Amino acid sequence: MREIDSGIQFDFPTGEKGIFFFKNFQITEEFINDMVLARQNHTGTNIIYPDEYNKFEFFDGLVSYRSVRQYLGVKTADCLPVLFASEKLKGCFHSGWRGLINGIVENLYEKVKIMGEDFSEITFVIGPHICGRCYEVKEDVADIFIRFAKEKGISQSVFMYFKDHKIFIDLASCCKALLKTFSVKKIFDVQICVKEDMRFFSRRRGDNSSQISVIF
Ligand SMILES: [Zn+2]
Repeated sequence: MREIDSGIQFDFPTGEKGIFFFKNFQITEEFINDMVLARQNHTGTNIIYPDEYNKFEFFDGLVSYRSVRQYLGVKTADCLPVLFASEKLKGCFHSGWRGLINGIVENLYEKVKIMGEDFSEITFVIGPHICGRCYEVKEDVADIFIRFAKEKGISQSVFMYFKDHKIFIDLASCCKALLKTFSVKKIFDVQICVKEDMRFFSRRRGDNSSQISVIF
């Protein structure tokens, strides 16, 4: 993991590169033409690219074979941008609380199985997102997560905190716990909070734009 002019770069063991771009990164036209972005709608759907590209109106993640040469990307501002790669595949997904509840991780597991890869061998990296200290939720969302954790056999104390009568959720910790239920061992986290680090957009800080994260 290292800082470059345009963002934070992560070099995967397989040779793939992941970049979590800063908000001021100017995307060139050539880059746009080579990039495939998720058609995000807080779904729990990942597509196998390019096979399923026209099959879904919305999807929040893309998983592809390593031979596919396009940049695969997601846009985020607070939500988790997650990039991943293994011997056979590479991809990315975007997830806020809805995506996690809607089963984005479980869906990815199913897609990876179709592609004939061992899910537990995938290396994941979680990019800049709103941290657990900054992400306050209301009781309705907390209740949904309490039920969800119970259903998944995850201790809610792993990702839920209470302070001054307020409830906070650490999305990355929840995502990591979910990945671990599938025996994933290689999970990295850039540990940058977009609400606290002004180099990134944050909804909760009032931004309307999103930053891009890509794997290639
Ligand atoms: Zn924070």
